[in-house]
Amino acid sequence: MAELDPKRTVAELKELRSLTANENGAQRVAFTKTWATARAWLRKKIEQLRGLEVHNDEAGNLWATLPGRSTKALLIGGHIDSVPNGGWLDGCLNTLAGLEVLRRIRAQHGAKPPVTVRLVDWADEEGARFGKSLFGSSACSGKIDMNEIRDLKDKDGIRLVDALKEHGIEFERVKECDKELRSAAAYLELHIEQGPVLLDLGLPLGVVLGTFGVERHAIDFRGQAAHSGSTPMNRRRDAFLAAAKMSPEVYRIAERSNGGVCTIGSCTTKPGIVTSVVEECRITLDQRHLEAAVLARMLSEAKEASEKFATEGNVGVEWERIWKIEPILFNKELIDFCDEAIAETGAKPHRLPSGPLHDAAEVARAGVPTVMMFVQSLHGISHNKIEDTKEEHLELAVTAFDNLADKAMQWIEKS
Ligand SMILES: [Zn+2]
Repeated sequence: MAELDPKRTVAELKELRSLTANENGAQRVAFTKTWATARAWLRKKIEQLRGLEVHNDEAGNLWATLPGRSTKALLIGGHIDSVPNGGWLDGCLNTLAGLEVLRRIRAQHGAKPPVTVRLVDWADEEGARFGKSLFGSSACSGKIDMNEIRDLKDKDGIRLVDALKEHGIEFERVKECDKELRSAAAYLELHIEQGPVLLDLGLPLGVVLGTFGVERHAIDFRGQAAHSGSTPMNRRRDAFLAAAKMSPEVYRIAERSNGGVCTIGSCTTKPGIVTSVVEECRITLDQRHLEAAVLARMLSEAKEASEKFATEGNVGVEWERIWKIEPILFNKELIDFCDEAIAETGAKPHRLPSGPLHDAAEVARAGVPTVMMFVQSLHGISHNKIEDTKEEHLELAVTAFDNLADKAMQWIEKS
């Protein structure tokens, strides 16, 4: 009989932790020895399942394929890499839950399920060492910017290109892995939430609607340096005052946006001495929302506010875009299946956007129908050794995710 064993997933997560974590947390940073150890361990597990074709693609993504009667493929993806001192679940939960689902499908359908099923372990989701996240999945989606990353180095001066070579990856060929997505009919990813939304609602599982669009800018206010003793308050052109007014304003903008977030993440001043009025003040603003139109409105509201505060303070203001990405919405039908899959376990489904980007966003950008499922994070914390999820919730997540895989297979078969 084909039996899913969610307890086995939890046991394997613990096994992986004991193999690749130390007292500071998970150390599976991509393109390091520990990552390679984790990968070899995973590959061995996969190879215990007979009838699977296993290979690494040009970008170092690991693929395990169970060929079906149809070549149309259901993709299940995760990432075994972690940040340094990371948690025990981020990324690898999806890889190992996917493996368990693959085992169930193999047992239920034998060597030939109705559609092809593929597990992918993406290479370097985190970008922890070289600063380029979603490396393997963006190579696959074709959205990777080769010129932007060709010269990247880690903090020891080792080039990305050389680190890749050590792991059998030739940098100039990474985009050739786009062929892996040609037969893809759906992509599913289970992930820990990494935030507190499900925790605060007291719910174990969530349906992810998509990933936030991001607008990231630097804002420069320019006033005039002046002696802090001799300059009366009404004669100052204080760049910091104008910048500081932005802080409560972005909270109001976020509140009005219904679900968006705004962060002033850094503030630097010049001359930056205790005896001078601030001449130059640079702040960075990160704004995120699931709806493109609302995100655009949040940005224009922030621009208007900055101009108003600059005028009030008789200082100049300039904006510079650092980065942007459009919101990426997941597939409506798969979202409904995810909802049903959760409800079938007895849990109440909750729909929510994802603040962080995930490999799933890259796959969706490549045009593959995609959905993600979230499981509650204790403390609402991730990228930290205290990252955790109740074992009963992990088991429930594997069961719900397996339900989802089943529904997606039937959907692919019919379409
Ligand atoms: Zn992750």
